[in-house]
Amino acid sequence: MQYIYTFEEGNKDMRRLLGGKGANLAQMTNLDLPVPSGFTISTEACNAFYKNHNQLNNETLAQIKKALDQLSQNVGKSFNSLSQPLLVSVRSGAAISMPGMMDTILNIGLNDQTVVALAKITANERFAYDSYRRLLAMYGNVVEGISEATFDTVIEDMKHQNHYQSDLDLTTNDLKQIVSEFKKVYINKLHREFPQNPTEQLLAAINSVFESWNNHRAKVYRRENNIPSDLGTAVNVQMMVFGNAGKDSGTGVAFTRDPATGEKHLFGEYLLNAQGEDVVAGIRTPQPISTLEDAMPHLYAQFEAIAAKLEFYYRDMQDLEFTIENGKLYMLQARDGKRTPTAAVKIAVDMVYEDLISKQEALMRIKPESVQAILYPEFDEKDLANHDFVASGLPASPGAATGQIYFTAETAKAAHDEKQQTVILVRQDTSPEDIEGMVVSEGIVTSRGGMTSHAAVVARGMGTPAIVGVNELQVDYQKRSATISGHQLHEGDWLSVNGTQGHIYIGQIKTADTVVNENLSTLLGWAKQESHLGVYANADTPADFSQALRFGADGIGLTRTEHMFFKPERLLEMRRLIIAENAEARQLPLKRLLKMQQGDFYELYKLSAGRSVTIRLLDPPLHEFLPHDEKEIRKVAKQLDVTPTYLKQRVDSLKELNPMLGHRGDRLAVTFPDIYQMQVDAIIGAALQLLDENVIIEPHIMIPLTALKSEMSWVKDLVVNRIEQLLANKNVCLEYTVGTMMEMPRACLTADKIAEVSDFFSFGTNDLTQLTFGYSRDDVGSFMPEYIKQGILPADPFQTVDVDGVGQLMRMAVEKGRSIKPQLPIGVCGEIGGDPKSIEFFEQIDVSYVSCSPFRVPLARLAAAQASLRNNRVVSQTVSVKSVN
Ligand code: PEP
Ligand code: MG
Repeated sequence: MQYIYTFEEGNKDMRRLLGGKGANLAQMTNLDLPVPSGFTISTEACNAFYKNHNQLNNETLAQIKKALDQLSQNVGKSFNSLSQPLLVSVRSGAAISMPGMMDTILNIGLNDQTVVALAKITANERFAYDSYRRLLAMYGNVVEGISEATFDTVIEDMKHQNHYQSDLDLTTNDLKQIVSEFKKVYINKLHREFPQNPTEQLLAAINSVFESWNNHRAKVYRRENNIPSDLGTAVNVQMMVFGNAGKDSGTGVAFTRDPATGEKHLFGEYLLNAQGEDVVAGIRTPQPISTLEDAMPHLYAQFEAIAAKLEFYYRDMQDLEFTIENGKLYMLQARDGKRTPTAAVKIAVDMVYEDLISKQEALMRIKPESVQAILYPEFDEKDLANHDFVASGLPASPGAATGQIYFTAETAKAAHDEKQQTVILVRQDTSPEDIEGMVVSEGIVTSRGGMTSHAAVVARGMGTPAIVGVNELQVDYQKRSATISGHQLHEGDWLSVNGTQGHIYIGQIKTADTVVNENLSTLLGWAKQESHLGVYANADTPADFSQALRFGADGIGLTRTEHMFFKPERLLEMRRLIIAENAEARQLPLKRLLKMQQGDFYELYKLSAGRSVTIRLLDPPLHEFLPHDEKEIRKVAKQLDVTPTYLKQRVDSLKELNPMLGHRGDRLAVTFPDIYQMQVDAIIGAALQLLDENVIIEPHIMIPLTALKSEMSWVKDLVVNRIEQLLANKNVCLEYTVGTMMEMPRACLTADKIAEVSDFFSFGTNDLTQLTFGYSRDDVGSFMPEYIKQGILPADPFQTVDVDGVGQLMRMAVEKGRSIKPQLPIGVCGEIGGDPKSIEFFEQIDVSYVSCSPFRVPLARLAAAQASLRNNRVVSQTVSVKSVN
């Protein structure tokens, strides 16, 4: 079995066998780039090592000896030689880069004799002893398990005694003394000498790399990142070249493009007369790579050419390490470079235009979450460095915000409107009544609630950063104060929130704004061409819809009409309607609401410019629109011109023990048909208004909470009869559809029956998850984090679809629905409609579109394209939410 491959024998496609580092060193060698000679001990040797009870087997040992002989011959140096001593580095390198494993030992081959020889040959005694002390410390730490601190203390003591500022002040004699102290550490700790035999050093180092594959940290990392444990690591043995050999030597790192912005130019830094670790250790300040052009023009030109060649070859931005030894350039590493989300998008788009990669490759290279990161404001990094977060909660709506805190919607609004303050609304939870305070707030924090609680859904819809379920937060409304993790805060104090991570900071932190740039628009345009799933927005207002359109939404997949009733003048009419005693008393508020709703729908239709808009009829229980506490009841009673006692009676009569399971959704239609009729009048009225302006609208009307075919049939008849009557009155024809939300488990189980009377389905996964698990969507924050921590649930099912349970119901509903209507449009409009992992599943079960909050549209679009590409979908036209009857 071949366990060892020289760099000449490998290539970049041999990652599995040679690890990432080994495969790239081999590839660079084969591209005729200047790489110091060496060889890679394969991952198979690692697995054989474990089979052989953590010992290198004889075959591997024999091959190492042979490879070492060959290396010596190639470079004209050998272990223990006093004229040409061979020094090597030993580096680990798994197929997937893995922190936590042993990484590097440099300068193997030095001992008490060769250090003298090296000093003589280089005429640089300081360099030789500096190299030796590094070997003693690295070897002692990595192979023998002596703490780094033990060695550091020796150096620190020496510096302290001599009043030195930095390691550079150490003299040759100091270094010699450090070497002798380090050797004493071996005796004291291990009761044996540092091994003087280079082969023994090398074999022990190789053993340590293999053993580190199974250390605790590496195992945990593999488990968390789903990396199979039988992959094994490779070991690279390579001749040392020295950047610290004099003034015409140096070492550096560089990216082929700017990793922060993606601009196409070399970006990096270097140090003359230094070893690799000095660049990262920060002992000396490195120079920008551009200045190498002045210092060593030929060498810079050579490096530039190599960088271009490597980027062309790997077809991605490269992160390069190099060393210059006595005026000669050596490449030590090439790998795909890490980059910011903004740079990732720019680089991918630029590379398509440079003909380096295809559009599909560009799409697959960007993580959907990165797109999200580009779109949301973040804290200014410098300012953030001065702050620590004091508490965290569920990251309900991403982005960073800073502002002065207020505990009620009214005070928040007053601070915003009258004092022009930027405001953070801090509450136990929010309800529809708080909407005005939420609209003016830069950020929202609640102590209760889960990812689909009112605060979370509304904040995401508005693109306002929010953190919910903050257990360390207690709000005292009476005292207008709050406690966060023991810190006392009062109305008007500054607070900063990072809704992407769920972190809360006390004080003011500057934010840096971000916008959709041209590169992202280009990428999203390509994504649209590739995705099988349509991507719509959940939008209730023209502002939301405009935002969604700027982000490239195909239309609206869900308008929650109840959100339109919470503006003060509307809320008043809604309350009048709810407390009315008879049909007659309901007429006036209904008429007024009709006018306002028609105006809302007109605006949305006008903005749609031919795109599909799906409007859902009223969903929440009526009780939500009424005041709750005594003070509010007194205030509202006055506005409504009724006695507080009467209003309280009405409030009490509508109270339910389990409102989310109660009198809401289409159940309201059955008991109060005039509300749905009014909404239908408003929808059709708006469409007819536009028809008069020669704009044809096809209304899509959605019924919430359907559980029974008979129920859907009843409500659909109500809606259709009303529409037909309206159209007949006007003597016009209009296409329209009436579909249902699929959010009751019973609806999924009987989807074939329901499909008979429904023009489309749209999964309301918030309620479907709530009812399938029996978890209240508003309160899961109290136990969900523990469920995830304990591994009882892999993820919050309100954030990522529970494939085995909820997903099963969805799959069944799709199959049953399409068994009756093969072309039935089926959407997902719950919050997970914008979750990349869930989108992958929706693509597999053949959903037609997803609908999510406007700010998630770009991320959903990219995730949809990736899901289609992964599933090899031949993409035709996006299916619209359209009738197929
Ligand atoms: C749902 O239940 O998933 C849904 C979209 O409706 P809502 O969140 O308004 O209940
Ligand atoms: Mg619902």
